[in-house]
Amino acid sequence: MRTDLFINNDWVSGSAGTFTTSNPATGKPLAEVAAASEADVDLAVAAASSAFTSSAWRDMVASERARLLYRLADLLEANAEEFAALETQDQGQPLFVSGGISVPNAVEHFRYFAGWVTKITGITAPVSVPGVDYRTRREPLGVCGLITPWNFPLAILSWKLAPALAAGNTVVIKPAEQTSLTTLKLAELVAEAGFPAGVVNVVAGGPEVGRRLVEHPGVAKISFTGSTEVGREIGASTGRSLKRVSLELGGKTPSIVAKDADLDAAVQGNLMGGLLNSGQVCAAYSRVYVDSSRADEFIEKLAAGASQMVLGDGMAPTTQMGPLVSEEHLLHVDGYVRKGVSEGAQLIVGGERAKGDLADGYFYKPTVFSGVKQGMTIAREEIFGPVLSVLAYDDQDELADLANDSDFGLAAVVWSRDIGTANRLASQVRAGTVYINLPPMLDAAAAWGGMKSSGTGREMGYEAILAFTDVKSIWTSLA
Ligand code: NAD
Repeated sequence: MRTDLFINNDWVSGSAGTFTTSNPATGKPLAEVAAASEADVDLAVAAASSAFTSSAWRDMVASERARLLYRLADLLEANAEEFAALETQDQGQPLFVSGGISVPNAVEHFRYFAGWVTKITGITAPVSVPGVDYRTRREPLGVCGLITPWNFPLAILSWKLAPALAAGNTVVIKPAEQTSLTTLKLAELVAEAGFPAGVVNVVAGGPEVGRRLVEHPGVAKISFTGSTEVGREIGASTGRSLKRVSLELGGKTPSIVAKDADLDAAVQGNLMGGLLNSGQVCAAYSRVYVDSSRADEFIEKLAAGASQMVLGDGMAPTTQMGPLVSEEHLLHVDGYVRKGVSEGAQLIVGGERAKGDLADGYFYKPTVFSGVKQGMTIAREEIFGPVLSVLAYDDQDELADLANDSDFGLAAVVWSRDIGTANRLASQVRAGTVYINLPPMLDAAAAWGGMKSSGTGREMGYEAILAFTDVKSIWTSLA
């Protein structure tokens, strides 16, 4: 596959050399990827700027733009197995995740937003001025910088790319340096689908490449998914330059198990919600509140389920949990586990790197803590690893306050058999998405994004079309 930069529908070698991307299951190098310099970012933005005003893109009728997105969806679907294997080797996620979630989710996003292209409308309004007609148009913003993280590289890219193109923007993509391969592979399909030159560009590299994109005066909008820390930096910069910005940031999802909950369903849902993709999920169910009278039973079942997870190379069909993305991230996760122990939480299972055959990769055993208190670091900070913290409560009336006692507000889940309890808690919790009796799930039609320090703006659904367009008012004299 091509691992150069993709600029103006050409593959060009980066002028900042190359960097290595590795397979986290083996620690072995997978590919050398071209690194973009500032000058390369400038070239990509220039290509996207001229594509934005080119007649090939600006004057393309809506049904043709829709057809391009449908074609991209079809091409991705036709190559699904190859993309799934590539994602697994570069990111680590098991094949059942890459092939069962990531690639189909991306296909659905291109298809869903292809449908929107012909349905983006403005309004007419009865202004109180005689002799004029007033209407609005939703117009594309211009060049959009799409900056993605390493946990779901292809799927998260599609959440941004599909609506950006559907609305008529052009883009420069900066994938995470750990996981650039499926983004570059998708660029091959963009060219094959027939998108005009410069509409989609990819510049790989580290944070400095993202920073240049954020600061570039030719970029109209930044759509960023990543850590809250970097999100704050981008928000400050785009605040100064008054660029549009969407920030999808970190989370610390509370999982609220009401006293009347179906405990077995809650255990299964928390295993899935907390350990999917080795816990490297922004909405990972990472702090679980359980009634103290049922906490022992819950912890016993949760720990049994966690310790039975089959760890291994994601390419093996039996693997249930793959590696963490890098050695650096494994040490980061382990640091939180050590902190949990030192602050007095009880480590029930896991809490260490996997050894034996898995020692060369970045495998961390699924970890369950009990006796976690609200003020402990593992209950407050995002760990982004396979670490579940169980907090016992005595009074159900305090649950909403406990759940809301967090900087984050991305998602929450409520487990209850009682429809009133479930919906009361769902309405009290400050989170962009609340699940009731479900593991975390996403859909192209369902708005996704965070409250508080989990970000600003929404992806997916019609909200994404709004986020990639501006409103223009047009007044016409009827004289
Ligand atoms: P990160 O913030 O370190 O990096 C994300 C991307 O930003 C990468 O491409 C990186 O190279 C780039 N980047 C880093 N510094 C930059 C800067 N100063 N300016 C511009 N770009 C810069 O995040 P990560 O470690 O790759 O991803 C994990 C984080 O992403 C977690 O916090 C997770 O919760 C979050 N996340 C959020 C969502 C969501 O939908 N809210 C989804 C997935 C992941």
